[in-house]
Amino acid sequence: MQYLSNFHSHCSFCDGHASMEAFVQYAVSKGFKAYGISSHAPVSFTTRWAMNYDDLPEYLQEYRRLKAKHSPEIELYVGLEIDFLPEEKDAVFQMHSSLPLDYRIGSIHYIDSFPDGTRWNVDGDPKTFKKATAEVFGGDIKKLVKCFYTQTCEMIDTCSFDIIGHMDKVAGNSAQYPEFSITDKWYIDLVKDTLTLIKEKGIILEINTKALHRKRVTFPHQQFYSLIKEMQIPVMVNSDCHCPDLIPSGLEETYQALSALGIKSVRILKQGKWTDMPIEQTPCLVS
Ligand SMILES: [Zn+2]
Ligand SMILES: [Zn+2]
Repeated sequence: MQYLSNFHSHCSFCDGHASMEAFVQYAVSKGFKAYGISSHAPVSFTTRWAMNYDDLPEYLQEYRRLKAKHSPEIELYVGLEIDFLPEEKDAVFQMHSSLPLDYRIGSIHYIDSFPDGTRWNVDGDPKTFKKATAEVFGGDIKKLVKCFYTQTCEMIDTCSFDIIGHMDKVAGNSAQYPEFSITDKWYIDLVKDTLTLIKEKGIILEINTKALHRKRVTFPHQQFYSLIKEMQIPVMVNSDCHCPDLIPSGLEETYQALSALGIKSVRILKQGKWTDMPIEQTPCLVS
């Protein structure tokens, strides 16, 4: 039996490049058995990528329509990718805990603002990242990275999320800084502490394959797979797709890499329950 799944995906309710239905149809056409929709949850400031608060009812309604239409050929689930902002955590928790979601992905995209109050995104363009390092952290990249992981740990500590999304996204900018290598001890220690907390709280760690084909890295980086195995942290593999044809992107290669290291299963939703699915039963993907 083959069992294809993906639980981190976007669509035109946020910054995805096609309708929710187009994503679902593509997943069905490629033989996916389970698919989760996880648009960026609304935030309190203007962005070009988060969903509008007023669109939430329609988001849930469209999901229910598609679930009814495509059952039983695919199991559909609905979640949100939620930004954890420490100063807004109570309001954010109230917003998403009242919604009928199947799961919640907690992700860090913002760790601070410029002095004029403008938000900057750790996943944004390298120039803005560099400017933020200079203007917000006094040019100290280690300070910025530590701040990212402190916020990540604060998010995990709330236990309000089922899944931690792209845990080490901040490392995507390490090439710009000679003093920041992901093989440095100070950095590995930060990742270890974060993984220890994830394990302690029993949260699922996402292996995010969005950048695998373009940049040859996953989030968390491949160098941490052995540690993840050693710590027996439950993982799931997601493509964080913004276009339908990228739904399968990087999944097969990542399953093979995890399997080669002895990670035997991924945790997914099956018939509405978190289930450890043996990796041998996951894909050989149709291209
Ligand atoms: Zn994200
Ligand atoms: Zn995402």
